[in-house]
Amino acid sequence: MSMIREVKAVKIFMGKLAHGADLLEEITKICVDQNICLGRVEGLGAVKKARLGYYNQQYHEYSFFDLNQTLEITNLTGNISIKDRVPVVHAHVTLSDNDGHAYGGHLAPGTIVFACEVLIQVLEGPKFERGFDKETGLPLWEMNE
Ligand code: ZN
Repeated sequence: MSMIREVKAVKIFMGKLAHGADLLEEITKICVDQNICLGRVEGLGAVKKARLGYYNQQYHEYSFFDLNQTLEITNLTGNISIKDRVPVVHAHVTLSDNDGHAYGGHLAPGTIVFACEVLIQVLEGPKFERGFDKETGLPLWEMNE
């Protein structure tokens, strides 16, 4: 069953990430430091290398692959919610190479920023907390109450 809840946009942070930072960990750190427990994130820029995940739906596990090359971040889209009582960022990226060919996937630690401009929108509303979902094996939002 699909479940949705109303949330309200309250403010937006906009800025650039440090050269050499880990893309996912840096966005997560900003959320922890600013106490952002619900929100959305978008970004663009470039990375020195990337590590992305692909979820195997049959085996219920991620496989990760490394892209050891410089790439453009043509899109980063993600959300911020709570898992294990702390803010967690779930983001997907599309990255393009020298020929404009694109790679995409679930953003994992190990993706290193060359330059990145981010926009984080803070939302207010009911708590979105991740818990184990039996059907998919993923830490999805628990929205039972
Ligand atoms: Zn994902």
